[in-house]
Amino acid sequence: AFLAPGNPFGSTPTLSAPRQRSAAMPDSEDGAHRFEPPLSTMAASVVRNPIRKVMLKMKATPGCISLAGGRPPACVFPARAREVGEDLMNYGPQLAVGTDGLREWAREFVDKFHAPPGGWKGRDVLLTSGNTDGMTKAVMLLSDPGDYVIADEVTYPGITASAVPLGRRVLGVRMDADGMVPDALAAAVEGICGGGGSTAGTDVSAGRPRLLYLTPHGQNPTGATLPNARKEALYAVARRFGLTILEDDPYYFLNLTPREPGAPLEPGDMRGIGDAPKSFLSMDTDGRVVRLDSVSKVFAPGYRIGWVTAGKAVIDKWAVLGEVLTWSLSGVQQSAFLALLQDLGTDGFDEHLKQLQSDYARRCAFLVKACDRHLQGLCTWRVPDFGM
Ligand code: PLP
Repeated sequence: AFLAPGNPFGSTPTLSAPRQRSAAMPDSEDGAHRFEPPLSTMAASVVRNPIRKVMLKMKATPGCISLAGGRPPACVFPARAREVGEDLMNYGPQLAVGTDGLREWAREFVDKFHAPPGGWKGRDVLLTSGNTDGMTKAVMLLSDPGDYVIADEVTYPGITASAVPLGRRVLGVRMDADGMVPDALAAAVEGICGGGGSTAGTDVSAGRPRLLYLTPHGQNPTGATLPNARKEALYAVARRFGLTILEDDPYYFLNLTPREPGAPLEPGDMRGIGDAPKSFLSMDTDGRVVRLDSVSKVFAPGYRIGWVTAGKAVIDKWAVLGEVLTWSLSGVQQSAFLALLQDLGTDGFDEHLKQLQSDYARRCAFLVKACDRHLQGLCTWRVPDFGM
């Protein structure tokens, strides 16, 4: 059961057959990625807190009692904290990236739903505190002050809230009912680069666009979902100009369409974990996608749990940045999330999703009815396929 990690600190839950890898864009011959997202100047200077190195060395030395660092012994924790366990409640080597078990679980989850081309060769995953955390760290690691972050012309304000105070410029690209228009993206990049876009992605001269921020399913706030052909066209533009795609996809599972058109939107009519859409990660033959997943819209925002899938170099730097910024993820939130996974199991997740999809689809139908009644002739709208 992929949703029920038995031993969160070690075991590797097994999965049923993974989804087929994208056939549209075959892997490069050796399966190696052709693109390394260029890291920011700040990323190059982010280094591990020296105390961490000392602690790891001491831990590896049998009989060594550490008097360094401010790591409290677990015996002084209040009883409730002790119940959660020392591994999750103390400072620990894996807490900036998630426990080994949760990371392995996230890898299996990504494999099942996205089957990234080339698998885990050159890629890795780590836990985040949700996509807001992911977005901010991605902006810090993958762009420099003065650079453009490219987004939809009507975009989720979280990206501007992260990027603008960090000195990045957010450039909005024209959308239609299907989301960002690929030709408009190409024109926008050409406008910035003066027609001198590079295909290698190694041009990190100041001000050059490097990050393309997209929410492919149920975009916030427009509700637009990128059709697969549009995703492929946007990916091709990103390849042409050496852009890294930051895929923020919290509504991936909130499919509002029943399996049979016209069905009454009961939970049994909905798709659950079936028919999951194609993501940018699932077509990422180059290694240019940094994908953010979050449990906020599927379970509850208060878990503050998500995960990022990206190239190994990005993930390694991300782990160090995580240690520098917050030292570790919260053990309490990981413990709560593990308990939820163990309660649900795969069938429970599927059932929960069907209920969720049914709830949101009915709310959507209700709103559309109200629009039909009150807004005809005043404005136009398109009924979304994904979102909440
Ligand atoms: N990204 C988008 C597009 C959102 O709409 C939201 C929440 O509304 C978030 C990210 C925030 O996600 P999280 O709770 O994982 O930080």
